[in-house]
Amino acid sequence: MIDGLISNQFNKEQRFSFVSDAKEHIKRAYKEDDRPWVVGYSGGKDSTVVVQLVFEALSEMPKEELHKKVYVISSDTLVETPLIINSINLTLRRIQDEALNRNLPFETHKVKPNANQSFWVNMIGKGYPAPNQQFRWCTDRLKIDPANQYIMDKVSSFGEVIMVLGVREDESATRGNVIRSHTVEGKTFMRHSTLSNAYVYAPIRNFNVDDVWDYLLNHPSPWGDDNFELHKLYQDSNSGECPLVVDKTIKESAGSCGNSRFGCWVCTVVNEDKALTGFIQSGHDWMKPLLDFRNWLSSIRDDRTKRMKYRMHGNVYFKEVKIVDIDEKPHVLIPKKSSRPKRFIALDQFDIIKKEDLNKYIEENNIDLGASEDQMLLVTYEEETLDGQTVKKYAQLGLGPYTMEARKEMLIKLLELQRDLKHPEDPHYELISIEELKEIRKIWFKNGDWNDEVPQIVNDILGYTVDWEIDDRPLFDKDQISDLELLCEQFKVDIKIVKQLISVEKDYSGYKVRRGLIDEIGKALKQDYLHL
Ligand code: SF4
Repeated sequence: MIDGLISNQFNKEQRFSFVSDAKEHIKRAYKEDDRPWVVGYSGGKDSTVVVQLVFEALSEMPKEELHKKVYVISSDTLVETPLIINSINLTLRRIQDEALNRNLPFETHKVKPNANQSFWVNMIGKGYPAPNQQFRWCTDRLKIDPANQYIMDKVSSFGEVIMVLGVREDESATRGNVIRSHTVEGKTFMRHSTLSNAYVYAPIRNFNVDDVWDYLLNHPSPWGDDNFELHKLYQDSNSGECPLVVDKTIKESAGSCGNSRFGCWVCTVVNEDKALTGFIQSGHDWMKPLLDFRNWLSSIRDDRTKRMKYRMHGNVYFKEVKIVDIDEKPHVLIPKKSSRPKRFIALDQFDIIKKEDLNKYIEENNIDLGASEDQMLLVTYEEETLDGQTVKKYAQLGLGPYTMEARKEMLIKLLELQRDLKHPEDPHYELISIEELKEIRKIWFKNGDWNDEVPQIVNDILGYTVDWEIDDRPLFDKDQISDLELLCEQFKVDIKIVKQLISVEKDYSGYKVRRGLIDEIGKALKQDYLHL
């Protein structure tokens, strides 16, 4: 259809009136006030249209009217699909160069998460399970927060800013409703849903997908990109894009951004990774190990032996399980989740205990809920139905973060992948940075890794030593740690909580005013799993 549109010169003027209308609208909006614009560019079709339209509109304006800056920002999640991030980098450079050539007030920037909020630090450091549809923690931390931080910096310099976004009403019914509900009749700009003093301008809100391609394929990129290449990317995958969405409500209406050539290479939010598969199919075989790693991450996500049996802040919860008869024998139904298949396990393979006896059972059997073993444990309790009957229920302990063992396994595999990956254009291509490794080291230490394994793992796999911060050195040597472990065993004290308390004390040591210390100690001691 698009080929037909390109070759068909009939009624060209009428077809492109939507383009000149959009540009006129942009010019009027630009002149309306002094608030600088921040345009989000993701590398996808919609944001390309917006940046190109703004660029062309400003190019057509008299220079004396170009009174304020247009910042074009792209996000780099630090886990971007390699070829996509290369092309985004190149485009940002080209936009900047061409703007300088034409004396346009554009400035391009890349926004990145802080090292302590990166994908690897959250997953391998803190143990967040790989993101999925229900627990998509990544978009905020990797994209929205860094972009919002950039906007807030601009707000503090200029008072107010306008976010220019490539959102379109026809992307989905929900998206359309959200955009319409944000709009005030007769106003060009919508209020940002969370950031005060930030406003949203959506110049292509009324474009449909044909308008988008029609414009891109008939208007060459002013900075020399090839819009036909972009079109080819979309032909290889039938999916959308992971936009640099900077309005939370609009993000919620966007669904997953992982189903896309423009998502992160590690994305486990979708069942099948479109970004990497597409590239590998079109000849970039060197990315195959990345895909294998991503698939492995997805496969272990809901493996009970990789997860702690309490949440990050220590609370324990239960997940009811269904009991079904198979060959007249009761079985526990373990439902399908992400890439974990549905399973039936005979009920007699579980230890079944009353919920109120859980604490005693854990103590007597010396069970560590933070360890890798899945204790094959079911708790029972009674519940009253609506018609007043009492029914017996079964539940498993709910899952928390990855265990320390699983985090180590992930780090080892990731570093091996980095060591063995053959990026054709960049022999020093990094999957995880030194800053992220330093953050992971700090978090592991707090989580009780007193053997300080990160430097050793890095050295063993990558063969080099890093300038690790002195303050991160462990407090105790191996002998002291094993003495402490023995003492804890003798006095039946949880070694993890002792390590946590010592870490809290270490964090506050050296400060004259130790405000917050008691709260931190209280929080550590009140963790659910200690008081079952
Ligand atoms: S592409 Fe996937 S991993 Fe990356 S931010 Fe979007 S949902 Fe998260």
